[in-house]
Amino acid sequence: MSQPYQCPNCKSNKSRFNLFEQTPNYVKLDPNSGDMVLQYTDETLEPFHVKYQGPKVRVQCGVCGLMEDEIRFIKQAELQKKQ
Ligand SMILES: [Zn+2]
Repeated sequence: MSQPYQCPNCKSNKSRFNLFEQTPNYVKLDPNSGDMVLQYTDETLEPFHVKYQGPKVRVQCGVCGLMEDEIRFIKQAELQKKQ
């Protein structure tokens, strides 16, 4: 389900955005060489390996350049609707 965005900074922009998908690559590196030893998926991740809990999408306003978590753009659009 998609939701409308509005930039919380310039407030005029509701349509032009740069979206950055934040998908973690879980890896295990060789401590000496830095070479990748193993790559995990969500399912194969070891219990002590901390899972990424942050937002999936980061948004940049295509007009003023403000970069924030997606939720700030959604909240601003909701705020605007209530007024
Ligand atoms: Zn903006």
